[in-house]
Amino acid sequence: MLSCKDATKLVSQKQDAQLSLMQRISLRLHLMMCSGCKNYERQIDVIHKACRRISGSDD
Ligand SMILES: [Zn+2]
Repeated sequence: MLSCKDATKLVSQKQDAQLSLMQRISLRLHLMMCSGCKNYERQIDVIHKACRRISGSDD
């Protein structure tokens, strides 16, 4: 079981690199049970999309 620290690290890591199957499974399990990290994932996602839009690759 991931700690919240590990889970948030994987969440930001998966924006830039692909996670291994094991990492994805443990992250998914953690996010199912932890609303704090789920919120964090949502925020990272929004920020990431906003960054992409600013850099001009949104169409
Ligand atoms: Zn957590």
